[in-house]
Amino acid sequence: MSLRLDYRSYSLPLLRPLRTAHGLCTVREGGVVRLVDESGAVGLGEVCPLPGFNRERWSDSESVLGRLGEHVTWETLADLPSDLECLCGALAAARRMLEGGRGDGDRGAPDQPATPPPAWPVASLLPAGKAALGEVDSRLELGFRIFKWKVGVAPVGDEIALLDDLLGRMPEGARLRLDANGAWGRRQAERWLERCAERPIEHVEQPVDAERKGAEDLLLGLADDYPTPLALDESLVLGADITTWLEKGWQGVFVVKPSLLADPEAILGRLERAGAKVVFSSALETAIGARNALDIAFSWGGERRALGFGVWPLFGGLHVNGPHAAPFMQLADVRRLDPQKTWTVLN
Ligand code: MG
Repeated sequence: MSLRLDYRSYSLPLLRPLRTAHGLCTVREGGVVRLVDESGAVGLGEVCPLPGFNRERWSDSESVLGRLGEHVTWETLADLPSDLECLCGALAAARRMLEGGRGDGDRGAPDQPATPPPAWPVASLLPAGKAALGEVDSRLELGFRIFKWKVGVAPVGDEIALLDDLLGRMPEGARLRLDANGAWGRRQAERWLERCAERPIEHVEQPVDAERKGAEDLLLGLADDYPTPLALDESLVLGADITTWLEKGWQGVFVVKPSLLADPEAILGRLERAGAKVVFSSALETAIGARNALDIAFSWGGERRALGFGVWPLFGGLHVNGPHAAPFMQLADVRRLDPQKTWTVLN
């Protein structure tokens, strides 16, 4: 069957620049692809590799899509370079929407269950550094009880000194996730993990750089030596990385960004069968990627840890953002997103 292929690039300023150990992000760049079949059914997918995380770039996908031309077949699309995992994932998402939906933005899969699943807690992303102290009170008032704080941005001593101030503002039962984005060396990670023990730290995400020599052994050793669970994020760029860590028997958390995987359903099936601990996380998508990633998250049958999707609104304008950050997310919030409207406004 012949398909019409379109794509659009976007370059969207962030409403609030995002500072992590990878640097300061002020503009989100990426692209969306659209497939239309002969019956007029439409599928949309988003290609949004994260700078500092993926090696893949939107510009790589753009060149490949440009060479494909306007008319393609499923066979041509199945034959794209497999290292463009975000592009392969976006095309798979577009295909699911096209085949499952009526072309009106309803993805079709998974079907709305007769009894909607309970609302899913969302972790609220606090700004790095001291700015977190100024924000946590208002987020608590909104009802958030799980927070994520970006660390590894300032010297370890300065950030550790803030930790108890931050925890002191939280009521009993509230929990904090720390995300170092790989910024620490062994000694720094040990200092932090000593401090985290017996504090309400849900997990410490990517304490050391996934690319450093011996990173795997170091992560496994730290996970054994300290009581606070560790979560892998930058260690899991590709689907194959997740499989590798599953095979190693990783007992910590797997942070999964469905938008960045070529075949998230297959990977999640493996994680579910292994009884793995999974945290679903945003890749700073527009509503097109958000709809797909959250639909996939809501089909997860394992334990539901707070969603790492408390990021929107990221951008100005209507129909561009995923569900606005709230203490809980429901499937209905996801189903309200209309990818076709997003496609139109990204023009
Ligand atoms: Mg992370």
